[in-house]
Amino acid sequence: MKRGLIFLSTVLALASCKTSNSLIEIEQEIKQTSEPEVVILEEEDDFLTKEQKHKIALQKYIPLTPENKFNADGSEKAPFNLLEGGLEEYIKKIYIIKDKDFYHEYKWAAAHAHTDERIICLPKWYNKSLLFHEAAHVRQGALDEITLFTENWIGVANIRYGSLADVTNEDVLWKDGTDEPREGCVTAYGSTNSYEDVATFVGALGYEKSPLEALIDLDNNIDECIEMYPLYFCDKNDARYQKKLDLLYEYGFFNYQEYCSMTENLGCLRYLWKN
Ligand SMILES: [Zn+2]
Ligand SMILES: [Zn+2]
Repeated sequence: MKRGLIFLSTVLALASCKTSNSLIEIEQEIKQTSEPEVVILEEEDDFLTKEQKHKIALQKYIPLTPENKFNADGSEKAPFNLLEGGLEEYIKKIYIIKDKDFYHEYKWAAAHAHTDERIICLPKWYNKSLLFHEAAHVRQGALDEITLFTENWIGVANIRYGSLADVTNEDVLWKDGTDEPREGCVTAYGSTNSYEDVATFVGALGYEKSPLEALIDLDNNIDECIEMYPLYFCDKNDARYQKKLDLLYEYGFFNYQEYCSMTENLGCLRYLWKN
């Protein structure tokens, strides 16, 4: 089950982005930081894969590491300052890079993790959910070498990963074209494999608005709220959701306070949507 690169869907990325910035602000920011789409390649570059091009592009950046993560006053530099022990434990490098240097296969991909090397790559406009999502990939990859976490998770999930959603260049949606929380997953993207399932749960820990704040912020627009904060709309009668939170706590993705908050927020707004 090892994968070199694991991607995050735009569904989550945009949804998460909107928690701290308006979509317009994000788009403006992308425009400001993006360079022209046209990439002039040397002839031999045509033989390089997207992953190879990405690795070459990384060479011009200096990553943040556990060794250089401190400011002069001893505080941690961003984004290390946002990570608690469990999610930070195995990260070796964090790259903050321009969108054009990702060479992602899909339009909706916003960031990724190199799980084997314990590296995460984030766009300059990253937010907490995106960071936590990618940090979860690194932790799961590291735990795979020493624990049965993924096997336990797959046992709880009880779905055929990859068979429930359609992945296109535009989006990742359930077969009926929706993206609501279902099947013990927070989003359709979570049903594509166990890594995205785990990461979409952990990404929800990065929500920057409480359920009440989310509702007020979105003028009680339930559809938008589901899109941006799907954890708040999960069906608690489906025992898989709580069992997955329990596993994440047991394996150190959350501290106790975070676990309590996730448990309290799980499905707390569903009554507004489905009774
Ligand atoms: Zn991912
Ligand atoms: Zn990368």
